[in-house]
Amino acid sequence: MKPLFRQVQPSVTMGLDQQARELAAAGYDVINLTAGQVDLPMPEAGKEAVLRALAADRTGYVPATGSAEVKEAVRSRMMWHEGEILISSGAKPLLNAAVACLCGPGDQAILPTPCYTSYPEMVRLAGAEPIFVSGEAERRFMVSGRTIEQHITGRTKAILLNDPVNPTGAVYDRETMGEIAEVCLAHDLYLIADEVYSAFVYEGTFFSFYQFPELRDRLILVNSASKSFAMAGLRLGYAVAPGPVAGAMGAYLSHAVGCPCSLSEQAALAVLNMDDGYEKQLRRVFQNRRDRLFEALSLIDGIRAEKSPGAFYLWVDVRALDDDVAFCRRLLQEEGVALTPGSAFSCPGWVRLAYTKDVHVLLEAAKRMKRFVEADHSRSSGVNS
Ligand code: PMP
Repeated sequence: MKPLFRQVQPSVTMGLDQQARELAAAGYDVINLTAGQVDLPMPEAGKEAVLRALAADRTGYVPATGSAEVKEAVRSRMMWHEGEILISSGAKPLLNAAVACLCGPGDQAILPTPCYTSYPEMVRLAGAEPIFVSGEAERRFMVSGRTIEQHITGRTKAILLNDPVNPTGAVYDRETMGEIAEVCLAHDLYLIADEVYSAFVYEGTFFSFYQFPELRDRLILVNSASKSFAMAGLRLGYAVAPGPVAGAMGAYLSHAVGCPCSLSEQAALAVLNMDDGYEKQLRRVFQNRRDRLFEALSLIDGIRAEKSPGAFYLWVDVRALDDDVAFCRRLLQEEGVALTPGSAFSCPGWVRLAYTKDVHVLLEAAKRMKRFVEADHSRSSGVNS
């Protein structure tokens, strides 16, 4: 095996999700809050479009970077007026394509941490080196332009940033985004911005990096239907990139992926042409879940939850109790609640709860966590020993 693959780790979140599913299949009462996917049905219009496409035998290849009509629907829905649009099988291949086209052996890519589990591995798969840059816990770990700047070397090619952020749920403010845009321009760096949680902002409205026109020559923006339209399994993502980068990404995708799924493209076409009622409904459901879960977690002494304004995760500080991996392992064994340790996101000491379940399930999980943490306190204070 190539030495590179001794460093590349399989997705930790997918592994934990699998472990929790196996325990549940074996009959254990498990509440699995590891999976980052919407649990509500996708829009009916999308389902009907898939069935229509199937009945019409639309099962052949489509163009490598997507059909023209789907690109057009993406352009008008996302308001990506400049740049080339690319469609592929989810955000992941588009992110991989961007990283692979911009960074290679000897190059560095800056990753604000905590970051999505796949980013470091995407950079390593491209043969480049991930440079982890952590923000301050007090600012929900968001990094400033100045902090990023301190880590730029002659080898830095790109910044790979996610907003709203998985795992913290933070949402970057315009001022910080402007600083980051300036840093990219001043140092000739590309910004690969992953905005897959753009529909999940509960306070204020979402502001995209695309709204800095001066950045567009340096910006690869990735989004997908996975979260916004609850279509994660249909694998349909979209990106906008400046012409030359889009050309390279298109070549990469034509060899690595082939083309997007023809049926998923039709589903995307239908949902992208809907009004924003579905996304509003998702926001209402998820905001209520967030508020109720946060309230319940706030009653647990010893852990500290952040009431994050975006995505569908709560980010919880467990540093006072245990290391994050041991915390998650024991919580799963003792109370059947599966969470993701912060280490999976290059940020030990914290854990991530995905509120992708009904409120009553979330509240039961919080109840179990309270029992677990209290039992832990009494163990460590020797009450039961
Ligand atoms: N980026 C981030 C930040 C994510 O959290 C995820 C999925 N959990 C993805 C990308 C992958 O999205 P897709 O399913 O569209 O490939």
